[in-house]
Amino acid sequence: MTITPNRTYDFIIAGAGISGSFIANDLCQAGAKCLMLEAGKSFTRKTYPTSGLDGNSQLYWSGGLELGHDCKIAFLRPKVVGGGSIVNQALVDRFDDEAFDSWRSVSGVNDFNSEKMAPWYDKAESEIEIQEIPAQFRNKNAEIFDKGFKHLNLEHAPLRRAQSNCRLEEGNCCIECLNGCRVGSKQSMPETVLKTALKKGLTLVSEMEVVQIIRKNDRIQVQCTDSKGGQASYHSKNIVLAGGAVGNARMLLNSGFQKKLPHIGHGFFCHPQFMSFGVYDEVINSHLGAFQAFKADDKGFRKNGFKLENVYAGPEGIALLVPGFGKKYQQNMEKLPHFACIEVCTRDTQPGQIKVNRKGKVLIRKERNQEDMERQKKGQKIVEQIFKSTGAKQVIHGRFAIGLHLMGCCAMGTNSATSVIDPEFRLHGINNIFAADSSIFPNAPGINPSLTIMALSKKAAASILRSR
Ligand SMILES: Cc1cc2nc3c(=O)[nH]c(=O)nc-3n(C[C@H](O)[C@H](O)[C@H](O)COP(=O)(O)OP(=O)(O)OC[C@H]3O[C@@H](n4cnc5c(N)ncnc54)[C@H](O)[C@@H]3O)c2cc1C
Repeated sequence: MTITPNRTYDFIIAGAGISGSFIANDLCQAGAKCLMLEAGKSFTRKTYPTSGLDGNSQLYWSGGLELGHDCKIAFLRPKVVGGGSIVNQALVDRFDDEAFDSWRSVSGVNDFNSEKMAPWYDKAESEIEIQEIPAQFRNKNAEIFDKGFKHLNLEHAPLRRAQSNCRLEEGNCCIECLNGCRVGSKQSMPETVLKTALKKGLTLVSEMEVVQIIRKNDRIQVQCTDSKGGQASYHSKNIVLAGGAVGNARMLLNSGFQKKLPHIGHGFFCHPQFMSFGVYDEVINSHLGAFQAFKADDKGFRKNGFKLENVYAGPEGIALLVPGFGKKYQQNMEKLPHFACIEVCTRDTQPGQIKVNRKGKVLIRKERNQEDMERQKKGQKIVEQIFKSTGAKQVIHGRFAIGLHLMGCCAMGTNSATSVIDPEFRLHGINNIFAADSSIFPNAPGINPSLTIMALSKKAAASILRSR
């Protein structure tokens, strides 16, 4: 049975992640009637999954991991009300001149400029709380990062986290917030702008996937399926695509927009990340307490296209990354409490592509060129030096790359042959389909993306409201 409510909304927002929530909040504030459709489930502080495996299977597309065509990168794509803000590490950074200069040069968009973006960052930051981990709560993993950087005379800085009160003195651990923060400290969308948007009249329908977008006589109709296979169809004057890089590409490709805009699906980037583990004689217990204290802040790293971060993952994630088989694997895993971890995050230069097959399923093609592999090697060499200088007996490199920052596929640009979204956040040549999320990134910035997604979404909402 297909449900078709009579109501025509001003805006349908497809995706309840970071961009969708920020835009919805500003549109609702201006009095627009908005409907948000999200494929994933809605959780509360009390109902987030409590085990790593449940977290993976309930908060992500495809049960946790998606693989590219050559199985060399595992992609993590959030599927939950709040999107990436529920599962991410909440590290927030502004882009530097290097990132914006490179975006401006590939896209022709003059507003990609640190000075012009500064007011939008200010507005985004005013919606969330940002803190650093206080020194007394840094765990042993963080201490190793700190000591290693000092030994090697490398610059590092405290990580800026979107959090309000982690109550670390009560023994709370950063690891928990990767499955949804149960203490309500992480500044996820349901704790911040989505909450206010709902108070301002936003209608949210979760477990409702947008399958196709039909544009007729300047009106939008979206065809959806719910989690039980039921169908629904909704109507609006405008639609904001906020399904993330892969989600937006899929919706547009399944709706046939590639005939006019051949670049849809091209220019996919993911900052391939590599976890490496230093094995120490003493117990490190990286998973306990606050391990997300530091980031690299070394100009040489930026020039060489990588950064290092002080992060960790649950045992189910580490178990996938640890190499070896049989007894050797068991021996490595037995050392888990002795592991410290540093992650190399590379700024990838080789674009990938998202396609859909005849059934509308996503196909990911993402390779790494020589340059991208060099970036990984340079990063891992420094990680080895950090571990060795701090007394590690062994260094284990994770078996494959992880793609967490999924970006591009609907790049913003001035040329409709090589981009998808125009500088006013509209699909080229179409005045009522918009996007401002990670899909509009013209290339990989090499910096955590979420704060810039928030800033771009604030800018997009203002631009959309001006054009009404
Ligand atoms: C484990 C992990 C750690 C990370 N850590 C950090 C970090 O520390 N700092 C940082 O800056 N970034 C981090 N990121 C990346 C960051 O979370 C993302 O870049 C960001 O969430 C992207 O925002 P978005 O609005 O583009 O999409 P998302 O936040 O991913 O939201 C998209 C939403 O749209 C929904 N959707 C997709 N298609 C459809 C459809 N057809 N119909 C309905 N709904 C749909 C999805 O289910 C999803 O909920 C991390 C990501 C992961 C997975």
